[in-house]
Amino acid sequence: MEEHNFKKQFGQNFLRNIEWIMNFVEAAELDKDDLVVEIGPGDGAITNFILQQVKELIAIEIDFDLVKHLNEIFEDYKNFKVIQADVLQWNIDKTIKDRDYKVVGALPYNISKQIIKKFFEQEHKPESLTFILQNEVALKYSAQAPKATFLSNYAALHSDVEYVSKIPNTDFYPVPAVDGGIIHIKNFKDNINQKLVRFIRLGFSQPRKKLSKNLSNYGYEKKDVESALVDLGHKDSARAGELTIEQWQTLFDTLQLDE
Ligand code: SAM
Repeated sequence: MEEHNFKKQFGQNFLRNIEWIMNFVEAAELDKDDLVVEIGPGDGAITNFILQQVKELIAIEIDFDLVKHLNEIFEDYKNFKVIQADVLQWNIDKTIKDRDYKVVGALPYNISKQIIKKFFEQEHKPESLTFILQNEVALKYSAQAPKATFLSNYAALHSDVEYVSKIPNTDFYPVPAVDGGIIHIKNFKDNINQKLVRFIRLGFSQPRKKLSKNLSNYGYEKKDVESALVDLGHKDSARAGELTIEQWQTLFDTLQLDE
């Protein structure tokens, strides 16, 4: 590609190590019959690999310069299409219709959580999401009790999440300030209880404080929370991060306020 004018506002740090590209594509568990959506293909380094392996690839790229470039280099591939769009605005159903699809991408770090939320809350869920995120954020999605986070519980409610690997920041160009991390998300669930999501969010409102304190700030009786925690096998002073997703569900059912 001719000299590309890297656009910082689009999180343009391109993966420049072929080993990591191969590891990433392997983590996505692609099949020759798959329809794959790639978010943020950039100059096509990952795209090029995937195109050889799957039935169809639809790329969503916001940067017009890159869209033009991708259309040139993949001109001969009948199984490739690039849509110039902001992925957060992109209408999934209109493009995908009722087909099964898998999603991959080295995401722009600044909007990675919004992108994941979009797919979690989409009615027509993908078979899997395989993303490169800021490593610290990838670890937050995959954390486990007693070091769970709001994001790990939110993700566990919607799916199964696996942390695959860290990618050193020096394997991207331009070199970003932080390392990348690969996560693989699958087995999406429907009909998520949004009240439970809100409840967990309240529990994590001040993660270092006691859970009973956090919930008592939002109308729950401190002593009820404490005794429910003890029933779950925790100390009454437990923090939000100590609970598994199953325990959140039980705590929620136990403390449900009359409305
Ligand atoms: N896949 C390439 C690679 O690994 O080398 C590039 C990854 S780079 C981290 C993120 C890519 O997402 C860039 O190509 C950027 O232009 C694109 N991008 C940024 N914001 C976007 C948005 N809202 N919608 C679609 N693409 C976006």
